[in-house]
Amino acid sequence: MKTASKEVSAVSLVQEALEKAHRYQDDYRIFTWINDAAIERAKEIDARIANGEGVGCLAGVPFAIKDNFLCPAGETTASALILNGFTSPVTATAVKRLEAEGAIVIGRTNLDAFAHGSSTENSYYGPTKNSKDLGRVAGGSSGGSAVAVALGIVPFATGTDTGGSIRQPASFNGVYGIKPTYGTISRYGVVAMTSSLDCVGFFAKDAADLDLLMQVCAGRDSYDMTTLPDYYGQEPVKDGTKKIGIIKDFDNDAVAPEIRDALKRKVELLQNKGHEIIELEMPALKYALAAYYIITPAEVSSNLSRHDGIRYGYRSEKSEHLGELYENTRGEGFMPENKRRIMIGNFVLSSGFYDAYYLKAAKARTLIIKEYNKAFAQCDFILTPVSPNPAFKLGEKVNDPVAMYLEDVMSVSLNLAGVPGLTIPAGQTAEGLDLGLQLVGPRRSDQGLIKFATEMEEA
Ligand code: GLN
Repeated sequence: MKTASKEVSAVSLVQEALEKAHRYQDDYRIFTWINDAAIERAKEIDARIANGEGVGCLAGVPFAIKDNFLCPAGETTASALILNGFTSPVTATAVKRLEAEGAIVIGRTNLDAFAHGSSTENSYYGPTKNSKDLGRVAGGSSGGSAVAVALGIVPFATGTDTGGSIRQPASFNGVYGIKPTYGTISRYGVVAMTSSLDCVGFFAKDAADLDLLMQVCAGRDSYDMTTLPDYYGQEPVKDGTKKIGIIKDFDNDAVAPEIRDALKRKVELLQNKGHEIIELEMPALKYALAAYYIITPAEVSSNLSRHDGIRYGYRSEKSEHLGELYENTRGEGFMPENKRRIMIGNFVLSSGFYDAYYLKAAKARTLIIKEYNKAFAQCDFILTPVSPNPAFKLGEKVNDPVAMYLEDVMSVSLNLAGVPGLTIPAGQTAEGLDLGLQLVGPRRSDQGLIKFATEMEEA
């Protein structure tokens, strides 16, 4: 990506990004807030360059943050009314590390409220539109970040991936997106959704940029005790041909023919380069979606209980007493999908149903972890679709929660197992819609995964 130097000013980079952001905003609804003051920060970077002072490896690079990353610039709303008016006193570790290298936040991007969704249609601000077709969804929940990169507004954007929210919108918009191994990048300062699954990651135009961003952001953080020391893993990345697993168990009829063809094309390409293709049986993956949609609401119901209208954000003015204040604030402030998850979460955690639902889901999760371990004893990486369909039409699934959940059938198992996944672009449909596939690696293989994606890109 282009960084500021004596020849290219940070002001010009930021100005160009802001100009594009404003130009596309009406049609695509990419941002919840655009940071026009970013120019001031760019001037500071230019002054440091002129003085010969050190600037970081991302000097003057404009970037966008998904609006569930906390920092004092703008309001962090998570695209929900209930956080309207909330300005954070703290900065998310990932944002802090990017800014320390000279990168500049030019805006906050739209998402499904609290990252609940697969289309960005659950946003209080309305849906972000697909970068190739204004009548279709951007994917979600990080739809705004994906489209900001796809339209070339910024060279990279942050996202969160709890069950596919980086990989699916990346594939719907023809960009790269990484969900690292759980714990690789600190979750500190990121609005919690499902704490045991949430991962911070990025969208970019190529795999090499993802590598740089991982170098900058990965590593231990005393504010997040689940963080890992680095993103390299224990074993050095081996060069040479690889064994690539293909999962047999995904019901082929449920996958759109264009996506099956894209997978076939990539498999042929890999074989031509001398890589070995291995068919994997992973029957436990059929439990992933059900387990995810129990574990996620369970943790969501707990994480969202802090929004009570007292401490921060929106407060309903209608209320006459405290109980009513909670009810009205939460009733008005959350989106329907947020409420659905709070209800389901409380149900599956309630005494009498805990064993039948939550505990069973936790056991299924263990099965899925074991199944991935078994798979990676046979192959280096796995190549699968990200989602069963390319970008669908706006309004097509938003009133049918189960149809929307089914979009996540191929993405959620990675989060349950904690393994990394990387979306690589894989061509387009006849109508010009983007297609993507995901490369999956064992825990802590992130660097190798990115390296392999880079090789595939060159091929
Ligand atoms: N689409 C999934 C959901 O709605 C994943 C969301 C995410 O990764 N944040 O739960």
